[in-house]
Amino acid sequence: KVEQILNAKASVQEFIQRTHRHFIGGEWVPAASGETMDDIDPSTRGVLTQVARGDSADVDRAVAAAAQAFRDKAWRHMSPQARGVLMWKLADLMAAHLEELAQIDSLDMGMPLRQAQYGTVPMAIDHMRYMAGWATKIEGETIPVSAGPFFNYTVRQPVGVVGAIIPWNFPLLMAIWKLGAALAVGCTVVLKPAEQSPLSVLRLAELITEAGFPPGVINIVTGYGPEAGAALVAHPGVNKIAFTGSTEVGKSIMRTAADRMARVSLELGGKSPNIICADANLKRAISGSMLGIFMNQGEVCSAGSRIYVAREIYDEALEQMATYAKNMRVGMALDAKTQMGPVVSAEQYERVLGYITKGRQEGATVIAGGGAMPAAGSGFFIEPTVFAQVTDTMTIAQEEIFGPVAAVMPFDTVDEVIERANVSAYGLAAGVWTENVRTAHYLAQNLEAGTVWVNAYHVYDAAAPWGGFKQSGLGREMGHHALELYTETKDVWISLQ
Ligand code: ADP
Repeated sequence: KVEQILNAKASVQEFIQRTHRHFIGGEWVPAASGETMDDIDPSTRGVLTQVARGDSADVDRAVAAAAQAFRDKAWRHMSPQARGVLMWKLADLMAAHLEELAQIDSLDMGMPLRQAQYGTVPMAIDHMRYMAGWATKIEGETIPVSAGPFFNYTVRQPVGVVGAIIPWNFPLLMAIWKLGAALAVGCTVVLKPAEQSPLSVLRLAELITEAGFPPGVINIVTGYGPEAGAALVAHPGVNKIAFTGSTEVGKSIMRTAADRMARVSLELGGKSPNIICADANLKRAISGSMLGIFMNQGEVCSAGSRIYVAREIYDEALEQMATYAKNMRVGMALDAKTQMGPVVSAEQYERVLGYITKGRQEGATVIAGGGAMPAAGSGFFIEPTVFAQVTDTMTIAQEEIFGPVAAVMPFDTVDEVIERANVSAYGLAAGVWTENVRTAHYLAQNLEAGTVWVNAYHVYDAAAPWGGFKQSGLGREMGHHALELYTETKDVWISLQ
């Protein structure tokens, strides 16, 4: 019995309790196998609802629908402007249902309602609008060739059917990051949401129908990674795979895709360094760094989980971090006062608690939190945890925890901290806190990360590219860079003789 759902809007309660099926070719269809899977509310551990458990039979059907829609005139010959208008209409519908979408994500994966309502759902809407604007701007070039009397030009064409696989940490936003660019250039999509949090994407499908997208342009198959996800990756009809998730699964996707040279873009894990210099505005640096690690329960690929603090201010910074962490309001995701919700699942709960135990065993000291938090409710609650006396070789300083656990380490010089920050196999994001412009630029130039924030953390914009160096991924989503991932460039030679 899930009591939290009773606090949701009536329309959300009604939606969640419905029978949830795949969305294929514009229709709602049950899994070919007839199987379903439970969807859990992490704030209470209660079963929210059931959704279809897809496998290769469902994926076959969805890819066929997407391939047909890609060939069909309704989409292929739709003018870029009309495509943009449809996308904008979808964004308007999302805006009209903003609170509902926010409540669904919050119930489904535990993100605080306030964050969903004022952060991630508005960002998803902005993103759709930004990408709608690109639909009319996918331009080619004319090239002055010297090979002879030729007119040479390029056109950029949609790559075809996209298989999009997304994680559970920002369900709606991750879906829109992929759909936005894919639709702008004229691709069709089969989207597989994470098994932990499929609901907002299913609600989105209803809005997609209402907006008037031709059937089959966007299809959704729910299911587990090794079943529905793996089938989508291996499907010969999928021209491009867009994946956000763990580095381990990302590597296996790249291997599978290699056989047929399917295009791949990957947004993977991180262990992002966040560097607080001695001359930083400490108050801003502490609150920004705590947001950096605790936002979304630390379940963010770019979480600032390795915090390096200049030795002169290390003790003072630790004290302020501990106070901040202890004062955070942890509670039910749907409660508007909640700053940090539960982690997403029993599996994640055990993993994160395991890392905390490991941190203690390896000799780090807990200065805030350090365990489960049953007082916050019956769900998967973990205290905002800060470790001091961490060394670079400890597990908690090296592995992605994907939970509310900060490892805080002192440093002496800027060059030393650059070297230590860059040792990681990951390279997604980095934070820098300093009032010195030279130090800021020097660190920004030298850190191996796809994004560097200076005197800020966790800021995102539809127009700014996003992606990782090294094992944090391949390709850049967001901004005009994302369009590259979904188009092929064709070069045309016209003889003038
Ligand atoms: P996490 O550990 O954060 O759940 P995963 O990489 O396991 O990250 O999951 C991200 C997404 O990838 C989810 O939608 C999941 O179902 C899917 N997935 C998991 N394993 C596979 C796989 N072998 N092939 C394709 N997709 C997968």
